[in-house]
Amino acid sequence: MKQNEKEVTVVADCTSCDGTGLFGFRDKLGVTCWDCEGSGKMSITYTPFIERKLRHEWQITEVCQRSSLSMRLGTPISYKEFLEGKFPETPIEPEIPKD
Ligand SMILES: [Zn+2]
Repeated sequence: MKQNEKEVTVVADCTSCDGTGLFGFRDKLGVTCWDCEGSGKMSITYTPFIERKLRHEWQITEVCQRSSLSMRLGTPISYKEFLEGKFPETPIEPEIPKD
């Protein structure tokens, strides 16, 4: 797979074993980390942020709020308003009827 020219790859501590290459078990028994094969390192590839990318094909923007029960959408605004710094209104928490 050809790497995107804007992407940057760095070597970092393995997030699974915190860079040790090992997992510890009882009686100080260490086993090698499955994710980094004991090296303690991992490669992270990312694209550095330069500026927000535009999506001119979109016209409406809504804020999405996730609750434990469902996902609700707030009052929509135009994509132009969003680019001007306005943020869609947060949806109002619905009242849950009590028994
Ligand atoms: Zn590891």
